[in-house]
Parts: sequence; structure tokens; C-alpha cells
Amino acid sequence: MSDFDMPPELGGEKVDYDIFVDGGYVRSDTNERLDVKFPYDGTIWATVPDSGAADVDSAVGAARAAFEAGWADCLPSTRRDVLHEIADIVEEYAAELSRLTVLENGRLISEMERYPAAIAEWYRYYASHAMHIEGKVVPVENKGGDMLNYTRKDPYGVVVGITPWNSPLLLTAWKLAPALAAGNTFVHKPSEHTPVGALRFAELLHEHTALPDGVYNVVTGASGTGAELTEHKDVDKLAFTGSAETGREVGKQAAERLVPTSLELGGKTAQVLFPSTDLEDAINGVANGIFPATGQMCQAGSRVVVHEDIHDEVVEGLVDRAETIKFGNPFDRDAEMAPVAFREQWEKVIKYIELGRSEGATIEYGGKQPADLPGQLFIMPTIMTDASNQMQVAREEIFGPVVTVIPFSNEAEALEIANDTDYGLGASVWSEDMRQCIRVADELEAGSVYINEFLQVSHASPYGGYKDSGIGREGGEEGLDEYLQTKAVWIDLSGEVPSRFQPR
Ligand code: ADP
Repeated sequence: MSDFDMPPELGGEKVDYDIFVDGGYVRSDTNERLDVKFPYDGTIWATVPDSGAADVDSAVGAARAAFEAGWADCLPSTRRDVLHEIADIVEEYAAELSRLTVLENGRLISEMERYPAAIAEWYRYYASHAMHIEGKVVPVENKGGDMLNYTRKDPYGVVVGITPWNSPLLLTAWKLAPALAAGNTFVHKPSEHTPVGALRFAELLHEHTALPDGVYNVVTGASGTGAELTEHKDVDKLAFTGSAETGREVGKQAAERLVPTSLELGGKTAQVLFPSTDLEDAINGVANGIFPATGQMCQAGSRVVVHEDIHDEVVEGLVDRAETIKFGNPFDRDAEMAPVAFREQWEKVIKYIELGRSEGATIEYGGKQPADLPGQLFIMPTIMTDASNQMQVAREEIFGPVVTVIPFSNEAEALEIANDTDYGLGASVWSEDMRQCIRVADELEAGSVYINEFLQVSHASPYGGYKDSGIGREGGEEGLDEYLQTKAVWIDLSGEVPSRFQPR
């Protein structure tokens, strides 16, 4: 076992969790259980059910009943108030929720502690939007203008949210906050690697807020549980964040039943550096964009597309920063890089590093597990040079602290390389020539483009992918629209409905 103390909130003992349905914990119908491990040293500190069809059915049933019991029809101010309460609870229990997340995904406590404040703002932002779900009057010309046409926006009903492990409660908020503001009810399947934070969050909401029973349910499990949910006939809308591969599966299942689906998938984000850039800032931006979260970020800036004149300086600067990164226990506040979340992920990253080598790239720095650390999940920050954009390591999402550096000689070539990818989640441009920045930003094929910065996210700004990086947006008004459908209502003003047929 480990030298790690079980968290006091878990009473120091391994906890076997149930699923959370209709306002409380209920026993799962299955005997299959999944271990929850602390990635730093592999300690198993909890187990959760690997839920099956009956569990999914009861959670969807609870969400349906809560929808029909009036969550959609309550006053908007009621939903607003509940969302504010949720925000307050996230802040009040910030320390515990951050700690639970670290125990599940192994990310640094210093990173995870910054999340609750942001998560709370997502709930507050959509709380205010609950009061502004507005339709419009449409100037139709039917019957010579004697028809009134107006639109209203309705919730879909039961939303299923499927989330990954890297930022579990933030990515939950991206879906849950707008879905609830719009009047939907929710069944959540968190990642099998990070189920406990979601369960505890559900418990806190039901203990401390006026959220009605059944509005937010959590079923734990792996891909089978996810598939049961996406195939369930009484689900009205799917919201998924994860890999493009799984997103495609979810999309196929949703298409079978014609269920609207938003997908936030992977990326192969290019950071484009021009010679006029402030090198210090740009190198910081590149390092900040790939090494935090041990590279496990959808938008990770995993391709550095750099002008040949500054290539060597940029590589040198990146190596300098990589060399100083301090590994350690994620609960150690001095640690700057934690392990990846689980073994398959580690193997995947190592496989890509080997692949890069065999494709002819040079491992300028890193490429292996650092010595003297417990477990087998640490990976050194890795910088690959002598790379081309055609190499698999430059085309496929690695989801680890691995950056591929690709040189260019002019702006047209930079754009060609940056856009020559199946993905389109993010991109950045670094240059002191603002005309160039805007010109390039206009042409970059990505849902978020950053100029002289990177990885900024806000509840107020839409986030999502072009191309294979996804469908739909999270954040901003667009993020609310994902959870609303539009109804057009027609009213006759003429007072007359003439027959279209000849009288007999
Ligand atoms: P990642 O977390 O690496 O991005 P995935 O895309 O595999 O990995 O997983 C994201 C979420 O999708 C997780 O909650 C996972 O359990 C779930 N999932 C995996 N396979 C399926 C599937 N076939 N249908 C629905 N959900 C799935």
C-alpha cells in the first residue's frame, strides 16, 4: 500500500459507493464494481458500481419524472436561485471537492484548487440566463400579415451528460449549468476514473440546495454504462466530452434514435510562432499550453509551428522550462507535474513517443518515465523536433505532455501546416504584427483562436470544435442554446378561416 493518508472525509477507509438516483444513494442492480485509484501510487480508495441497463433505466426514469413534475415549468427565478445555491455549495466545499478530484485523476492540488471558483461562476452565469430565455415575434406575411407568429424556447427533457476524467467537475458544469437553467433534467455518467467527485457533488446538492429530487442523477460505470445511456429510448439530448473515437460511437448511437447531440472531442492544437513574437512570452505560452495537467487537456497545444529563424531559440527555451519542472505527489504544493491518470493512458503516451522516434523525430527532451517516483504513471515533459506534420505524432491526439515542433518558412506555409489536421479545437498565433495576427486568426480553422496568449476559457465565451473536434458549443449564449429547442406558435388575427374546397 502507500504512505498516503486516506482523506479524513472518507473516514480513512476504502468506501464502496452506490449510484445517486432520485435524490439519494441507491444500490446498483449490478454486482460488478470498478476500483477508483489514486494515480500517484495506485492506492485503491473507493469502488463504484459498473452500472447496467436497470440502473440506467431507473436514473432516466427519475429524470423523466422530475422533468414532468415541473422542473421545466417552475418560475425561471426558482431555477436561478437553485443554480446560485449550487455555485455557493461548490465554493463552500471547494477544498473537499478539489481533494477528491486529485485522489481520482492525480492532477496537482495546486491546479485543482483553482477550479471551484471557476466552476461556481459557470453556475452563476447560467443562473442569470435562466431569467432570459426569450422568444421573439416573427414578421410573417401569411394571410396578408394577419397572423401573429412568435417563438418560444423549450427544454428538451432528459439530458444525458457523459464526461471524461481530466477536469471532471468543470466539464460537468459546462453541461449541467446550462441544461438546468434551460429546464432540463440530467443523468450524468462521469468517467470510470473519476466517479466519486460526481457522487459527492450530487449528495451535496441534495443536502444543501433546493434542487428537486431526480433533477440530477449520477450513474457510475465504464463504456458499457455510457452505451446503455446513449441507446436509452427515453433520453432527449446527449452531451459528451471525450475522445473523437468514442464521440463517433456516441454520435452513431444518437443518430440511430435521432437524438440531438453535442460533442466536445479531441484536438491537435497548433501554436504558430512568427519571428516578431516576444520570445519569452511565446515560449511561456507554449510550455503553459502543453505541460500543465500532464498534457491531459483537450486543447493542449501539442503542435508548435514555428518560423525557422526562431526555431532553435524556441526549442532551447522549451527545454529550459521542461528541465525545471518538479515532479511529485499531487498533494505536494511544490510539485509542478503529476502523473497521468491511469496506466492505459501512460502506455498510450509512451507508445506515441516510440512512434515519433521510429518516424524519424528527435526526442530533444524527455521521452521516458522520470526516476525515483512511485507507481508507473509519470512521464517527463517531452519535446520532439525534426518532425513533419505528416508524422502520426503530429496528426493524432496523444493526451500527454508531448509537444511536436514543426518549422515553417512563410505565413502561407504556417497556415497550411496549422490547418492540415482533422482537428479544430484551438489554435494560437504569436506575433507582434497585429495585422498578421488578425489575418492568420481569420484563416485558422479552430473553434478558439488565441492571439499572444493561449488556453483562456470563460463561461461567457463559446468553446467547441471545428472539424473532428466536435459539434456544438459550451459557454456563452451558444452553450445555453444547446439545451433548448424552438417552437413557433401561429395565431390567426383575421378571425376567418375560408374553405379551400368548393361547397357541395
Ligand atoms: P477520454 O476520457 O480518454 O477522453 P473516452 O472518450 O473513452 O476517453 O471517455 C469519455 C467518456 O465516455 C467516459 O465517461 C467513458 O466512460 C465514456 N464512454 C466510453 N465509451 C463509451 C461508449 N461507447 N458510449 C458512451 N460513452 C462511452
